[in-house]
Amino acid sequence: MTYDPSNIFARMLRGEIPCTKVYEDEHVLAFRDINPQAPTHILVIPREHVASLDAAADAAMVGRLALFAADLARKEGIAAHGYRVVMNTNRGAGQTVFHLHLHLLGGRDMGWPPG
Ligand code: 5GP
Repeated sequence: MTYDPSNIFARMLRGEIPCTKVYEDEHVLAFRDINPQAPTHILVIPREHVASLDAAADAAMVGRLALFAADLARKEGIAAHGYRVVMNTNRGAGQTVFHLHLHLLGGRDMGWPPG
């Protein structure tokens, strides 16, 4: 999928629209989901313009997102109980924003299989 830089997460990265920032560094931005599906629901996005996991080629960048989420889970106090990391990839899996992102969900027990 071609990357569209007018997507809402790209606009957050440019500071054009607000978000509830949790943490950020030179590679990654993390902010609270506007429609949380768990007591803790944080989105972690890379600063690079990549539409989805299906379009990703940079192993270091994808790995950084995962380890950033693991660190965040510890800082948010949800790691010991357990948390879920989700990357909805393309429309059939529920992806609605086409800037690569990882959902970090925790603070409640999770069911399986996911919907
Ligand atoms: P997807 O469905 O693409 O995997 O996830 C997109 C997520 O972005 C959804 O969980 C949705 O609630 C969240 N979202 C959409 N628009 C906004 C927004 O303007 N602000 C924030 N913080 N989250 C948003």
